[in-house]
Amino acid sequence: MAGLTFDRDFDPRHGDAVAVSPLVARVTAPNPGPFTFHGTNSYLIGAQTIAVIDPGPQIDAHYAALLAAIEGRPVSHVVVTHTHADHSPLARPLADQLGAELVGCAPHRAARALSAGEVNALDAAGDKDYAPDRNLADGDVIQGDGWTLKAIATPGHTINHLAFLLAEENALLAGDHVMAWSTSIVAPPDGRMRDYLQSLEKTRHLAPTVCWPGHGGPITEPVAFIDGLIAHRKDRERAVLTALADGPATIADMVPRIYADLDPRLYGAAGLSMFAHLEDLAERGRVASNGPAVIDAVWRLL
Ligand SMILES: [Zn+2]
Repeated sequence: MAGLTFDRDFDPRHGDAVAVSPLVARVTAPNPGPFTFHGTNSYLIGAQTIAVIDPGPQIDAHYAALLAAIEGRPVSHVVVTHTHADHSPLARPLADQLGAELVGCAPHRAARALSAGEVNALDAAGDKDYAPDRNLADGDVIQGDGWTLKAIATPGHTINHLAFLLAEENALLAGDHVMAWSTSIVAPPDGRMRDYLQSLEKTRHLAPTVCWPGHGGPITEPVAFIDGLIAHRKDRERAVLTALADGPATIADMVPRIYADLDPRLYGAAGLSMFAHLEDLAERGRVASNGPAVIDAVWRLL
């Protein structure tokens, strides 16, 4: 796919404060895994007064690493991109200990209601305890000593997802909206493919110079990379339509055909991504399910 090359070359240096630009330092949490890569990146913004973006998962060693990285400097804001358990749980204890305002995305919710009998496979990933002092909306700005962060509503991975544009460096603190090492998970009912594609277009128009994601290293050519992501999603959509042209099918039928090279342990995640595409296609009147639109429904072309 033109423009889309994933970069998995990343040294997490767990626990260290890695200065990645004049205003940005990264501390990677020790929570590696198939969906988190080497772990969640927390970011410190600023030199004198600090904002901490995505304090990360409930891991004592990571909390201690963040305090060490802050080095006693005043922290004005603790900022959250989205309410997944690998990003937001340390926000409240850190904000309270440091006397910082906790700001960021809205509380956790799914992108749509559950269908009759549907179970939310993603339920455990959501941080329902997250309660900010102030919700930020698209375009809201927070500022500190020498830094300005503008909230960019980027729904798709979750409905409440925010990225943050650091104006002084034209850098996007991207959360899980875009990442250099992998595509982002967009899975119903928490995520929504239509929102995700619109958010990609929006980010592309911002034309950041660099993206600092929630996992892995930077995206150094964001516009070309995002073009690649959009093309990739359109390819996937075409593959689903092609598969359904052979006759009605379930996601379980189609995943091994479309994702021929995929490790079968990742079929579940691939199936959720396909479900997101099918929901989008159904909204556009291209496909329909026989019965409720759930993960094991039979789908057909219209
Ligand atoms: Zn994450």
